[in-house]
Amino acid sequence: MTTFSLDPGPDQIAVRDWLHGFAADVIRPAAAEWDEREETPWPIIQEAAKLGIYSLDFYAQQFFDPSGVGIPIAMEELFWGDAGIGLAITGTTLAAVAVLANGTDEQIGTWAPQMFGTPEDVKVAAFCSSEPDAGSDVSALRTRAVYDEAKDEWVLNGTKTWATNGGIAHVHVVVATVDPELGSRGQASFVVPPGTKGLSQGQKFKKHGIRASHTAEVVLDGVRVPGHCLLGGKEKLDARLARAREGAKGGGRNAAMATFEASRPAVGAQAIGIARAAYEVALDYARTRVQFGKPIIENQGVAFQLADMKTRIDAARLLVWRASWMAVNNQPFTSAEGSMSKLYAGETAKFVTAQAMQILGGNGYTREYPVERMHRDSAIYTVFEGTSEIQRLVIARAISGAPIR
Ligand SMILES: Cc1cc2nc3c(=O)[nH]c(=O)nc-3n(C[C@H](O)[C@H](O)[C@H](O)COP(=O)(O)OP(=O)(O)OC[C@H]3O[C@@H](n4cnc5c(N)ncnc54)[C@H](O)[C@@H]3O)c2cc1C
Repeated sequence: MTTFSLDPGPDQIAVRDWLHGFAADVIRPAAAEWDEREETPWPIIQEAAKLGIYSLDFYAQQFFDPSGVGIPIAMEELFWGDAGIGLAITGTTLAAVAVLANGTDEQIGTWAPQMFGTPEDVKVAAFCSSEPDAGSDVSALRTRAVYDEAKDEWVLNGTKTWATNGGIAHVHVVVATVDPELGSRGQASFVVPPGTKGLSQGQKFKKHGIRASHTAEVVLDGVRVPGHCLLGGKEKLDARLARAREGAKGGGRNAAMATFEASRPAVGAQAIGIARAAYEVALDYARTRVQFGKPIIENQGVAFQLADMKTRIDAARLLVWRASWMAVNNQPFTSAEGSMSKLYAGETAKFVTAQAMQILGGNGYTREYPVERMHRDSAIYTVFEGTSEIQRLVIARAISGAPIR
């Protein structure tokens, strides 16, 4: 186990500076354009791929960096550039984490590289858990997976919604229920390989923020995938279902939850990137904007707002780094530390971007300045990957042991 340190080593600092350069030179200047276009910024993903910023190797290196801060540092810098483009570049990692968290070594080796494609032919991947009637309540999933023993194939039917990269992905990871009577314990994750018949994109959503990131429904109509596309394999699933049917405790982790647990600190780091970006714009503005004959920062009322913003950003980062270090070093989240980090970072991004708009006055409300976009982008961070209320539920259950609803 690596000791937790607040002092990133030379490797992490080099990665941070490299990504910051890309975020400042490539992402930030393109942010307003892609926000208006509401399209996936393929040229920027391609550029990231050419530099090695969009690749399985890069994320695997950061993910397994024993310091635990590799992923948080990478996410914070990219999302400091812009959250919509940041998510277009990193959305694939959620599907990759689903394979990593639930798949066998062979499945990881087969599917994870295909999710990213190559620098010459970049691809994206999608993780499809949410459904119209199953958002926070993952146990209510209706998408069914039925095993066709004669052909050793799984048949998937259902409609997924709000899937990042849904329908434009090369590889989709779909969470489906194998035994509806078992609720979330009867679910499993499946890889849907490129070009599989029966999978199509439904409605593409027009969103409030992170508009450069594609969000859409995914329709599964008699989708047949080979038996080896069941993540973790059939033997493991059968054993898990048998334990759940016997009512045994610890009947295995829920497939969607396993993905979210691993990804929450990373999502918190994205929120910190947005918050830091808005804070920096507001600090600069407060130093230079003169009213009543002095820079507005010389008013305690404004300076204290900035003090609170910075304090909350740093506190959020400490929670995210701790949770990420714990996850990488296999420390159990006994007090739901992953949820704590995502809850606080998400709420911080909303708070800080709202304060930043206030400090910029009328300018903050226009698209001439980036804080208006950052404020819109921040709003998703109290919703996806578990809403703030759901994070509180997870933390409350973990610290109390009580069946809080
Ligand atoms: C832009 C975007 C991208 C997304 N990307 C993905 C993706 O890639 N893959 C994927 O699978 N999903 C994705 N999602 C879905 C996202 O995870 C869900 O929207 C989220 O989990 C909330 O579900 P819901 O929208 O159905 O809200 P609901 O569950 O209907 O909740 C509505 C409100 O009720 C509250 N609430 C619900 N239950 C409780 C409770 N027990 N106690 C207290 N409050 C409660 C919630 O906190 C919320 O405020 C995405 C969503 C968006 C908007």
